[in-house]
Amino acid sequence: MPLSFRPSQNIARLKESATLAVAAKARALKAQGIPVIDLGAGEPDFDTPAFIRLAATAAMDAGATRYTNTEGILPLREAIAADANQIQIQGAPVTAAEVVVSNGSKQSLYNACVCCFGPGDDVLIPIPSWTSYFEMVELARATAVPVHGDPANSLKVTADLLAAAATPATKGLMLNSPSNPTGAVYSREELSAILELAAARGWWVIADEIYLRIDYEGRAVSALEVATSRDNLIVINGVAKAYAMTGWRIGWSIAPAAVSKAMTNFQGHTTSNAAAVSQHAALAAIADRAQADEAVSHMVAAFRQRRDAVVHALSAFPAVRYVHPEGAFYVYINVDGFRGADDPGAAFAAAVLDEYQVAIVPGSAFGTPNWIRASYATTESVAVEGLTRIATCLTTPATESPR
Ligand code: GLU
Repeated sequence: MPLSFRPSQNIARLKESATLAVAAKARALKAQGIPVIDLGAGEPDFDTPAFIRLAATAAMDAGATRYTNTEGILPLREAIAADANQIQIQGAPVTAAEVVVSNGSKQSLYNACVCCFGPGDDVLIPIPSWTSYFEMVELARATAVPVHGDPANSLKVTADLLAAAATPATKGLMLNSPSNPTGAVYSREELSAILELAAARGWWVIADEIYLRIDYEGRAVSALEVATSRDNLIVINGVAKAYAMTGWRIGWSIAPAAVSKAMTNFQGHTTSNAAAVSQHAALAAIADRAQADEAVSHMVAAFRQRRDAVVHALSAFPAVRYVHPEGAFYVYINVDGFRGADDPGAAFAAAVLDEYQVAIVPGSAFGTPNWIRASYATTESVAVEGLTRIATCLTTPATESPR
């Protein structure tokens, strides 16, 4: 008799990744010949810089085709530590013993959640937050506690809001600046107050800094720069966004040595090392600073230009409210009351795809159903056309929509 699949308790509440689902849907529609403007998944549209690709080919030819240490090759971990030490860190310099390389920052985030949180633990998650934090915390069998950000302050949380949501069961929090999905950036003072609170309460801080270099106002600071102690801090980063290396799957954590050891052990039983050739590609990206800085600043300048163009396009629609994006490559737009729907973001996502052929991610994926996220990691003309269609859909009565 065929066995019917009943999901285990582990994944009983697991939902599909909304960001990846939108990307897959847009791809499928495009394959059918439907000219969808895809502002769904956050993926840079640039090719990986040539010097990185060449380094990967050379590494492959030189034999980088085998297992490496689970925690990653030493030269890459040293380069990551050296890169972190470029910024003004308080306390001892970061060492390779604190660095674990993984198959993407997503894996590092998950490994950190599993190693630091468990049953009975509450984890504070600023809302809106990137969709996978909720699932990762729950997969670690801890409880995700939403903490709503202040609408008057780009939907960011403050130390006071976090303190008000805390209970004796609070074990840590997730931080993300620049933020996915809002593009908001925490100032040094905001970050410092949050880190001080966490240190005083003995909470883990998992700081996701994957968009740190995609910063338009020069305001984005690393938690490493602000923290007076790194004892309770786990900083996550990777090459995907800043270096246009999404498909290479390389992320890492910088964490106290004992946490790094636990994360290595966990990874050793689940995926082992990240792909050897990708590690060498990442090594070129991090260690060849001159070429990397040139490539990254070129891409960030293009993102900034698109951000400016998108904000300019939205200025023609004064009724449209959004979070002013200071980093990353997303605009977070309020769709409160859209066509009277219970989940306005989902209703808007369906309408704008069906009527205006634009793919975006509904805000429910990020804990805020009254919002939607549009990515402008695409050419300027496509981004402007997409955002103009979004604003048109939002401000046009249903009876006057194209279908
Ligand atoms: N992080 C990107 C996004 O939010 C890529 C998809 C994903 O991993 O969620 O769109």
